[in-house]
Amino acid sequence: MSKEGRNANGIETLAAETLQRVMEHPATQNDIATVETQLGRYPRGMVAVGARCVGDGTPLVVITGPVLPGGIPFPTTMYLTSPEAVKAVSHLEADGLMRQYNEMLADDTNLRAQYERAHAAYLAFRHGLAERLNESEEHIEGISAGGMPVRVKCLHALVAQSLVMGPGVNPIGDMALERMRNEFDPTVCRCVRAQSDGQETR
Ligand SMILES: [Zn+2]
Repeated sequence: MSKEGRNANGIETLAAETLQRVMEHPATQNDIATVETQLGRYPRGMVAVGARCVGDGTPLVVITGPVLPGGIPFPTTMYLTSPEAVKAVSHLEADGLMRQYNEMLADDTNLRAQYERAHAAYLAFRHGLAERLNESEEHIEGISAGGMPVRVKCLHALVAQSLVMGPGVNPIGDMALERMRNEFDPTVCRCVRAQSDGQETR
């Protein structure tokens, strides 16, 4: 069990370091306004930006607390907001990639172990966030996102985790990002700047 112990410690460290980095810069009014334009609705419970476009700093993923204002439990702590990324992931889903990834998970014990580790990392990150915000996780305990730890149900959530926590954490999110690189790549700015009147320019 010593190997599992080390893995668990590695996950705790990674989650703590990621949380520290993310929370160094809480969401600004400007971030919230940008994300509101991306989503077409106010990002309730948004506490920080989890990942940004390297080119222009546009938010790609938002970090949301475990309880929304009004007491609504919210398990999708890392939420993909970049319209370009959302669209690229939707194309992968339409291409049937989720079925392919589910088959890979069923066949590959090593991949499954990595995926379970990604689930644990997600929960550890949120646990740290909940402690910082003094919010309860009781209604979403053990629930991560995207179908983890055993299924692939939403690639958007898995890609979001890969963007926030970096490569080598969520193997499915990493594969999806690699696959859609010609359409969305966090290191290549293809952001459409939204204007304040809500109209997009291309
Ligand atoms: Zn950009």
